[in-house]
Amino acid sequence: MKVIVIGGGIIGLSSAYFLQQSGHEVTVIDQTDMLNNCSYGNAGYVCPSHFIPLATPGIVKQGLRWVLNDTSPFYVQPRFSKSLIDWGIQFMRSATPEKVEKAAIPLRDIALFSQHMYATLAAQPNFNFAYEHKGLLEIFQTEKGAEHAKHTVEKAHRLGLMDTVLLDYHALQTMEPQTKINALGAIYFKCDAHLYPNKLMAQLLQYLQANGVALLKNEIVTNFYTENRQIKSVVTAKAIHSADAFVLATGSWSRELAAQLRVSIPLMPGRGYSVTLENTPYHINYPAILVEGRAALTPMDGNKIRFGGTMEITKTTTPPKIKRVAGLLQAVQRFYPEFTIPMPSIEQIWYGFRPCSADGLPYIGKPKQWHNLVMATGHSMLGLSLGAGTGKLVTEILNEQKTSLAIDAFRVNRFD
Ligand SMILES: Cc1cc2nc3c(=O)[nH]c(=O)nc-3n(C[C@H](O)[C@H](O)[C@H](O)COP(=O)(O)OP(=O)(O)OC[C@H]3O[C@@H](n4cnc5c(N)ncnc54)[C@H](O)[C@@H]3O)c2cc1C
Repeated sequence: MKVIVIGGGIIGLSSAYFLQQSGHEVTVIDQTDMLNNCSYGNAGYVCPSHFIPLATPGIVKQGLRWVLNDTSPFYVQPRFSKSLIDWGIQFMRSATPEKVEKAAIPLRDIALFSQHMYATLAAQPNFNFAYEHKGLLEIFQTEKGAEHAKHTVEKAHRLGLMDTVLLDYHALQTMEPQTKINALGAIYFKCDAHLYPNKLMAQLLQYLQANGVALLKNEIVTNFYTENRQIKSVVTAKAIHSADAFVLATGSWSRELAAQLRVSIPLMPGRGYSVTLENTPYHINYPAILVEGRAALTPMDGNKIRFGGTMEITKTTTPPKIKRVAGLLQAVQRFYPEFTIPMPSIEQIWYGFRPCSADGLPYIGKPKQWHNLVMATGHSMLGLSLGAGTGKLVTEILNEQKTSLAIDAFRVNRFD
């Protein structure tokens, strides 16, 4: 079957990888050269521990408190926009304890499945993307953080992630003997892995090119030709490309493109920033989330450390707010007091747009409107983690095979 994948981020490339392996003739189309999208500068976590979606009780109140602060980690750009209002309403409806509890199971399952896919990929001779399965720390500084951590560990155990443990300050410091940590303790999620996304993306592109997948760069898909409930072709400024089936994996741009097909998905871009130090003088053994700092750091690919964070619900055209990076680096220093990182130049700051669905769960599957379209988008804070698993599921859906896991929670039309 001839398949066109729209979007060359981790979701599009993973889909192309498994589709090609399954014997399809695959073309990937991207509006850029595919060398920098949200799938590059992220923190690289492949993390079943992230079974709690963004839309949680309390985040809305916290977000409102942060709105006027330039260096805050969470921000919603206030504007009159129907899509933002629709998304906000669905976001708040999803932020109930019952819905968060329900979302945890499908998130855990797809994350474990995806992690297995990455481990398998990492063992292939053509791939070496610094995949390490050594766990992740979630470090807290306050009593409130400690209380929350206790509940999270209990919840992880209820979900079967039994190798999740609570560390006191001394146990935490023993795990990072080369670096002073300012904290009360941490959760240690042994189930998590991490990788260097830049290498993963480059090696996927290399593999696809070497294995006959056509990579069409700098072509924006603007429209579709359809007949009955079939998509026939996609339209770009350069050409009309026809195929038997299509995958829509356009990340933060998916809402607008899906709307061309009369498919409505609540989705907003959530910008985050990262800074990567090469040959850093600092040493950490483990990736860490700094709970009260709302920041993440990852030792990756030898002697690099990447610092990332912030969530700005905004438009993809809004200029970056570099001040937020100062807030991020200050948060890091509050936890790792020896880490004095000067404010990087604007060229050294990376940012990307997380495709944030309203409930933090991805949209994976065929929308009811079209027989030959699979959508794979809205992965929010977890696109890297869930990338390989999503690619495999997309292929199973297109092949009309039984999917490796239940995908009902990811239904594209669930907000209709
Ligand atoms: C600071 C930060 C840290 C993060 N850390 C992690 C992490 O540790 N673990 C994790 O799992 N996730 C993490 N994420 C989230 C993760 O990076 C994203 O969820 C993921 O990259 C989304 O992948 P994607 O393929 O859906 O989108 P993208 O990577 O954005 O790719 C979409 C592609 O579609 C193309 N496109 C869009 N519209 C069109 C069109 N009309 N025609 C043609 N092409 C089009 C775009 O050019 C783009 O290349 C992080 C994100 C940020 C910002």
